[in-house]
Amino acid sequence: MPPICAICKWTRPFPDDFNFWPHEVQEPIDIYPIIECGKPTRRLKGYICARCLHDANASRIYIKSIMQGIKITQHAVDRFLERRTGENMTTETARITILKLFAQTKPIRFKSKHTIHRFLNNRSIEVRYTYAQGFIFVVAKEEPPVILTIEATGDRKLNDDFWYEEESE
Ligand SMILES: [Zn+2]
Repeated sequence: MPPICAICKWTRPFPDDFNFWPHEVQEPIDIYPIIECGKPTRRLKGYICARCLHDANASRIYIKSIMQGIKITQHAVDRFLERRTGENMTTETARITILKLFAQTKPIRFKSKHTIHRFLNNRSIEVRYTYAQGFIFVVAKEEPPVILTIEATGDRKLNDDFWYEEESE
């Protein structure tokens, strides 16, 4: 029986023993076996296609964000919608996209204080900065975090104007 995605029922003609896959697959892998604990010797629970796995991961990030109580100001949503390119997006979709993007960001620091002051707009709250995929997040140092605004990097370049912070903080 060929592997069938347990979610969307998509299938492809592969051998049903996934141990042989590395020899068979010459193209990007688009369906995966789900094995107990990911160990080849354990029980095969089923298959999931790359698209459903991607959706599952995105959903996990979104749900985690909700559970963590991450807040996004309307200002941040507006700035994000202004700065992104591509098709129109509803506020609701924007919020989900922002949460997914935020989950991928890493803390950064800037070369000059000048750059930071541009973001701050005379706010007196403590903030931190994170970065992913061309977007800089300005986040209030609170628990749960509040995303205050989102900037496109513009002229500022990674490893030139700003850097990833060392993990050990
Ligand atoms: Zn699927």
